[in-house]
Amino acid sequence: MTKHIFVTGGVVSSLGKGLTAASLALLLQRRGYRVRMQKLDPYLNVDPGTMSPYQHGEVYVTIDGAETDLDLGHYERFTGTYCTRVSNYTTGRIYSDVISREREGGYLGKTVQVIPHITDEIKKAIRSLDSDDVDIAITEIGGTAGDIESLPFLEAIRQYRQEIGRKNGLFVHITLVPYIKAAGELKTKPSQQSVGILRTIGIIPDILICRCERQMKEDHKEKLALFCNVDKNLVIEETDVAHSIYEVPIELAKQDVDVYVMEMLNLHVTPLEMDDWKQMVDKLIHPGNGEIEIAVVGKYISLRDSYKSIYESLTHGGIASNVKVNVRMVESEEIEKKGAEALLAGVSGILVPGGFGNRGIEGKIQTIRYARENNVPFFGICLGMQCSVMEFARNVCGMKGANSTEFNEKTAYPVIDLMEEQKNVTKKGGTMRLGTYPCRLMEGTKAQKAYGVLNISERHRHRFEFNNNYSKQVEEKGMILSGVSPDGKLVEIIELKDHPWFVACQFHPEFQSTPLKAHPLFRDFIAAALKCSAKGKRHKRDNDLTRNASKPKNRK
Ligand code: GLN
Repeated sequence: MTKHIFVTGGVVSSLGKGLTAASLALLLQRRGYRVRMQKLDPYLNVDPGTMSPYQHGEVYVTIDGAETDLDLGHYERFTGTYCTRVSNYTTGRIYSDVISREREGGYLGKTVQVIPHITDEIKKAIRSLDSDDVDIAITEIGGTAGDIESLPFLEAIRQYRQEIGRKNGLFVHITLVPYIKAAGELKTKPSQQSVGILRTIGIIPDILICRCERQMKEDHKEKLALFCNVDKNLVIEETDVAHSIYEVPIELAKQDVDVYVMEMLNLHVTPLEMDDWKQMVDKLIHPGNGEIEIAVVGKYISLRDSYKSIYESLTHGGIASNVKVNVRMVESEEIEKKGAEALLAGVSGILVPGGFGNRGIEGKIQTIRYARENNVPFFGICLGMQCSVMEFARNVCGMKGANSTEFNEKTAYPVIDLMEEQKNVTKKGGTMRLGTYPCRLMEGTKAQKAYGVLNISERHRHRFEFNNNYSKQVEEKGMILSGVSPDGKLVEIIELKDHPWFVACQFHPEFQSTPLKAHPLFRDFIAAALKCSAKGKRHKRDNDLTRNASKPKNRK
């Protein structure tokens, strides 16, 4: 029987609930249990696919093509397991299923209500994780206790645990213990009140995980235990980690949270195997090869969550090359105003990520030109690949104004065009080319060298594609179409012949990278950037030496 853990959040959002849930999952997995994760989001969109990254951060795409919450990225990166369509439900999706069923006559004769019909549908979503090959399912409820819209979800998990019993279900509440500077104190009151809110709806947390800036004292824990009805050893402290989110599971393990979970769920307490994880974290904190700087040039730069998986994947590439990767976040519109050289000089590599819409496109093209002409290692992803083709067509093949029909339908050179299958699509939600598709690599290319195999599969989220009418022209000028769909119709990867490392792909490799195994393209991109930066430094040092060598003579 699958056991269930329900994770709720208290006081404020952005506590890193997803990270904590993923860390707990990792610990249980490293105790030999098979864990599956799920996020229930109380908002009304059927999925986050139609939301701006500014609203919601990155849209994470699962292997089976669901557009989901970015917390699923943490789940996958921490546990190395795949999420699917059943790993993320929203209020919108739950209601839309119930309402369609009502229209089909599925509730004939009945009044359809939040309780029991919506809550039953939520319980069905939770139950969809039950399986012979899942020992523990962790369900995170989005939002904060007290939000009106999360009430049906909280009622559903209350009922669920009541039905499966205490030995099979647990409530974990992640809450904030703020530090009040003026008083010089940590305060437990908001957490007490948050647990109070849960209690009014019949949920008493079994474990309290307290997010805090500073370490808690024993009396804080005692107070929380007493007023929240939680055993003192189950008041767990999660202080901000010093270096990396990948330290969180190690910190939680020190307080035996996973052991308590196993005990409460009547599971054997098996040994914890975290050596490789600890080594990885150690490598991350003490990189032998110093630091490099990578520019990420996009249009949603001001919100860090917009490119969450990209930033994580760059870190993974850094772990593989033993180097700390610092990211210089650059707004592509700023490049349009100030020029590429002004904002990109000195970086060891440049990445242009995915995106939609016209804003900042010309800045991305200038960026790509800068990377191509200055031999700066370059990695383009999705829109980043499409812009690379546009740049090459314009500036190398002489196709003036070459563009994507997403931005200019009347361009004389539509080098990027709407995919055939998209031409009759009018609705926006869930209608892109989504999820995993196979791709065939060309032998001897940088892409093939990175993967080490000829056939790969990667996750997609786009409507536009490389226009094959231009393949000959770009190939003649030195662009290699190094990855294509098995039928040869869709170009999935391009690269440049005479460049240290210029690779761009139509898919999203950032969804398949983990700290223990960097995605091959991110790994090789960072390796190329490191190589270039070492060369740059050597070159600089040589110049300095030459200058210094001549100085004393002159001075004398
Ligand atoms: N806007 C482009 C398309 O729809 C790129 C999408 C993306 O970068 N995810 O094809």
